[in-house]
Amino acid sequence: MTALTTEGIGRPSGTVSGREIPGFRGEVIDPEHAGYNDARAVWNGTVDRRPRLIARCTGTADVAAAVRFARDRDLEIAVRGGGHNVAGTAVCDDGVVIDLSAMRAVSVDPVEHIAGVQGGAQWSDVDHETQAHGLAMTGGIVGHTGVGGLCLGGGIGWLMRKHGLTVDNLMEAEVVTAAGSIIRASASDHPDLFWALRGGGGNFGVVSSLRFALHPLGPTVIAGPVFWAAEDTTDVLRFYREFIADAPDELGTVIRLGTVPPLPDIRPELHFRPAIAVGCCYAGPLEDGERIVRALRRFGTPLVDLVGPTLYVDHQTGLDDTVPHGWHYYWKATNLTGLSDEVIDVVAEHAFRARSPWSYAGMFHLGGAVARVPREATAYSDRDVAHNIIIDAVWLPDQDDSVGTYETGWARGFLQALQPHRVGVYVNFLDSDDDTSRVREAYGDGTYRRLAEIKAEYDPGNAFHHNKNIEPIGPSA
Ligand SMILES: Cc1cc2nc3c(=O)[nH]c(=O)nc-3n(C[C@H](O)[C@H](O)[C@H](O)COP(=O)(O)OP(=O)(O)OC[C@H]3O[C@@H](n4cnc5c(N)ncnc54)[C@H](O)[C@@H]3O)c2cc1C
Repeated sequence: MTALTTEGIGRPSGTVSGREIPGFRGEVIDPEHAGYNDARAVWNGTVDRRPRLIARCTGTADVAAAVRFARDRDLEIAVRGGGHNVAGTAVCDDGVVIDLSAMRAVSVDPVEHIAGVQGGAQWSDVDHETQAHGLAMTGGIVGHTGVGGLCLGGGIGWLMRKHGLTVDNLMEAEVVTAAGSIIRASASDHPDLFWALRGGGGNFGVVSSLRFALHPLGPTVIAGPVFWAAEDTTDVLRFYREFIADAPDELGTVIRLGTVPPLPDIRPELHFRPAIAVGCCYAGPLEDGERIVRALRRFGTPLVDLVGPTLYVDHQTGLDDTVPHGWHYYWKATNLTGLSDEVIDVVAEHAFRARSPWSYAGMFHLGGAVARVPREATAYSDRDVAHNIIIDAVWLPDQDDSVGTYETGWARGFLQALQPHRVGVYVNFLDSDDDTSRVREAYGDGTYRRLAEIKAEYDPGNAFHHNKNIEPIGPSA
């Protein structure tokens, strides 16, 4: 790696202009800059990396300039969308962060039902603009998650059973390649790249903007969680299995096993009580939604039932405060073979062994439109998987290290207990360190190989490797 010269960074003053990167109009943030520590912080507070330079781009031309700058100097590159990836791949040590966090514009064509989204937008940006026209598409279930990273890994959320994954709604992407060229990828333009972008993550270039198909929704939907006491977990999960067996595609559900979060709508005496919740969102007429969720709401003795007519934008941000920026997070995840009695027993046994009231596990129900797209149509592989689980160890930055050690041990032990029931993993739920070797597992051998061949075409030198990396290979390798 070549050291930066004085015409690059290393000025004595903290005032930094973009002049050092040829053709760059955005803000350049180096260690001398007053905003450096904020700019290098990502969602996961355990991540503490110190880039040489953060290139906060204002548009595609800046992205191309920053890529060329880093490549010319053989510098490590990290790409930051929403900064949410638990592994902290949005920021690197001693290299250049291509920071898209100032590129959050969203435009909507209400006639054609299409959204144009810049590569650093967050889901709350997309929902805000699209819902103004009564439109939506599948996005993440937390508003401050980035569109870039989430979409490129696949994109699961409340609407996926009705409208497919986020990548299934992607029509076109503008990509800055490792060579610094700006190209478009769509079904007709660089179709191999377009295939790879729909699940292959940030391996193929920097996506400066995306175009998505939108669908009418809301603005009010039947949505919200029902909570039951942790002791009821086995019964709730067995009921849930039957409940979703015939559920229409309009019904999206996510299970949360942890403690009752201290949300304003929940009585204080219930806060932090161990509980299982089924969160719902019905993407159809309100009266149908009311009818479909009735059986769930009547099951057993709920601690609290918050299901009802809700603005979709509110539902999409309802969990935001439960996973704030800067706390300490460690994840384990897997797809599940199904919701057998054995799986339910493992989940009921392990979910509540965490000691931190913030740790939890989440289970998404996939299927529906996700499963109807052929496996080979996109790089997102495990279309026939109906359930996945994410085990989130969470503790606070000022807590003793032993708390983190216990919580991470809990997450690992939980995953280990699920070993006989595992089948692949969603790439966006992989953490760092002990998860790095699981990238191939996320794709399966065939998809991984094709991704590696396309990587060899668009990024033969693996310039974009600070991610869930796919190493380039030639077709005959
Ligand atoms: C609280 C929380 C909730 C979540 N909920 C969901 C959910 O409901 N559904 C779901 O599918 N996932 C969910 N995720 C996982 C999420 O998809 C990943 O964390 C994803 O990486 C976040 O994208 P980001 O842009 O914020 O990430 P970043 O950390 O900014 O980026 C991660 C990687 O993505 C790549 N990348 C990001 N943007 C671009 C771009 N514009 N061009 C090229 N490469 C890019 C880079 O390789 C980068 O290293 C959630 C994560 C968190 C923390």
